[in-house]
Amino acid sequence: MLLPKYKRIVDRKMIQKMRKPYCELCGERTNIEPHHVHTVGSGGGDISINLIQLCTECHIKAHSGGISKAQCEEAIAIREGISCEEVHRINRKAMGYDVY
Ligand SMILES: [Zn+2]
Ligand SMILES: [Zn+2]
Repeated sequence: MLLPKYKRIVDRKMIQKMRKPYCELCGERTNIEPHHVHTVGSGGGDISINLIQLCTECHIKAHSGGISKAQCEEAIAIREGISCEEVHRINRKAMGYDVY
């Protein structure tokens, strides 16, 4: 694999595509898996703004309602450097809803 010499220049898009090696909610570093905040079944997109890395424990909570979508979107907002509303809007738009 060829790495550019000017590797220090940070590519934001690249960072966004990079998966975190830890749970974005509790920081756990083992058994990490990606979770769709808005499930693919409900129209959620395969986009970084709809994906969060969770440990098994948080993942189970996210599916059982122990962790809300808003909590996940908040963690994504911090990671992407945008507001929670923006995360919500982008996700809604990706799902085909009208957003203003
Ligand atoms: Zn966790
Ligand atoms: Zn999941």
